[in-house]
Amino acid sequence: MSPKSIEETKTFTEMVARKQGWVLTKDETLYQDLVTGLNTNWNRYGYYLCPCRDTDGSREADKDILCPCEYSKADIAEYGHCYCSLYWSEDFAKSGKKAAPIPERRSYK
Ligand code: SF4
Repeated sequence: MSPKSIEETKTFTEMVARKQGWVLTKDETLYQDLVTGLNTNWNRYGYYLCPCRDTDGSREADKDILCPCEYSKADIAEYGHCYCSLYWSEDFAKSGKKAAPIPERRSYK
């Protein structure tokens, strides 16, 4: 895998948001932190591991937490944003609410 730049990773998040009908967090500092985390994970592991979770050691073991993770749709439907708060629903963004920590939907063995 060739390394990706921060700009390429930003473009990735914009594409995901557009495709899913979501919007990106309005918290610019959080956004920069999460993009940096995603970018670091790509350049370290070769895939966009969720920036809020730790690897289980391989792409196969991490497949449910490749961004956008398997839990994102349910979390956004229930809470208005994903576990990391990178992606928000349009309704949540319009509500003026602030993202808050939500329960981890992934089960760890
Ligand atoms: S919680 Fe899911 S959708 Fe949100 S940044 Fe992490 S992997 Fe991506």
